Amino acid sequence: MKCSIFDHRIDLKHTFTIANRSSDWRPNLSVRLEYEGIRGYGLAAPNPRYGETPESCRAALEAMCGQLEGDPRAYEPMIRKMLASHPGEYAAKAALDMAIMDLAGKLLGAPLYRMWGLDPAAMPPTSFTIGIDTPEKVAQRAAEARGFRVLKIKLGSGDDQAIIRAIRTVTDVPVRVDANEGWTDRETALREIEQLAKQGIELVEQPMPAAQVEDMIWLKARSPLPLIADEAFTAVGDLITIGEAYHGVNLKLMKCGGTLIARDAIAMARSLGLKIMLGCMVESALGIAAAAHLGPLADFPDLDGNLLISNDPYSAHPVSDGRIRLLDAPGLGVAPLN
Ligand code: MG
Repeated sequence: MKCSIFDHRIDLKHTFTIANRSSDWRPNLSVRLEYEGIRGYGLAAPNPRYGETPESCRAALEAMCGQLEGDPRAYEPMIRKMLASHPGEYAAKAALDMAIMDLAGKLLGAPLYRMWGLDPAAMPPTSFTIGIDTPEKVAQRAAEARGFRVLKIKLGSGDDQAIIRAIRTVTDVPVRVDANEGWTDRETALREIEQLAKQGIELVEQPMPAAQVEDMIWLKARSPLPLIADEAFTAVGDLITIGEAYHGVNLKLMKCGGTLIARDAIAMARSLGLKIMLGCMVESALGIAAAAHLGPLADFPDLDGNLLISNDPYSAHPVSDGRIRLLDAPGLGVAPLN
């Protein structure tokens, strides 16, 4: 198996601010595997929160690529062996999982959703994310996002209710709120959520710091809105605790280590009665495509990471009427643009 690794500087269309940081660009890496003359691609968006840097991600990709062997048509044992071959570095593992699945799909002549027995027509609409800004700017972005049927708003700046009121002056679509651990006091969190419930808000993501599990159990018992774990999910084993403290979980390929573990996580989360949000990082359409193939399994796709960037190195599945329309092409169904 021949392996090539590429570095990308992904530029954001707008400076993106959430409760704890701000950025204009993000590093992504892509990996290309070649087997029997066929090329498969996968994307890594390394996450500093989990100690991942572009350098550590590249080193992990090189180490794991060197150990790949066998026929990608038997993708499951190949991916499970790859996942066990290196500690941490889930973004690198996600990239290799995607590249192996892309190869498998091309070798078998089927899109991933077909290999998994999913119906692309069952894709729920994706949310479109707006970062923290002044209420006026957020309302302007909400007005620009008219094609989307659901918005996701980042809160936790202190001006939260003003932001929601401003959005409601321009649109009445369902709005999901992501506090990114912004409320540290449970009484404050409950008060904020009770206010949000009066404004047509659909759900609240990670209202409190992930470590405050007891406070989240308290909050879950009282919240009028579904609460979704994001930062609280770091591995499939976390789902047991998440099942007690939240109503749902935001699963991201970059945190799971790819599509195979994400499918394990979806099955386990469902068995615990959790709702499924399928999320992403700020990342190329290559990574979004892999997650989108799982979209028919999600309640809340949140797969807009490629729509926020201006220099995507890969092609994308189209979005129309706010839904990702998976192309009927083998593997991931997207390709490098040059
Ligand atoms: Mg989040």
